[in-house]
Amino acid sequence: MLITPHFTLQELITSQIAAREGLDNTPTPEIVSNLRLLCQVLEQARGLFGRPLIVSSGYRSAQVNARVGGARGSRHLEGLAADFTIIGVDNREVVRRISNSDLAFDQLILEYDSWVHLSVSAAAPRREVLTIRKGSGYLPGLQ
Ligand SMILES: [Zn+2]
Repeated sequence: MLITPHFTLQELITSQIAAREGLDNTPTPEIVSNLRLLCQVLEQARGLFGRPLIVSSGYRSAQVNARVGGARGSRHLEGLAADFTIIGVDNREVVRRISNSDLAFDQLILEYDSWVHLSVSAAAPRREVLTIRKGSGYLPGLQ
């Protein structure tokens, strides 16, 4: 089922860990509506690059989030965050270009130089940019 023109509900709720370990990762209707809000911003990000955006993690149930070592208050739990890469574009460049755009993200995080985390908020978006690396914790800005 498409929730926005280029994103399916399935790609936002698929979890390898959940599949392997038989964990439930079924979203409630409220979470599906949050995922729709998230995907509206992901559509705009996709549009900035004109290339497919590959989601590696969207919604996570509490069990799945705990299993992947996600933060306790993670926006992934609410369907308000996605981890992704863009084919053919360096992750730093992805963060740089999104942060320089007017996209309504709440947090945009370069994670371990390997993927980009983007969250949205129903309230006023903070447009906070962070970088995390092994051993560094969260650093302000694009580092
Ligand atoms: Zn994330």
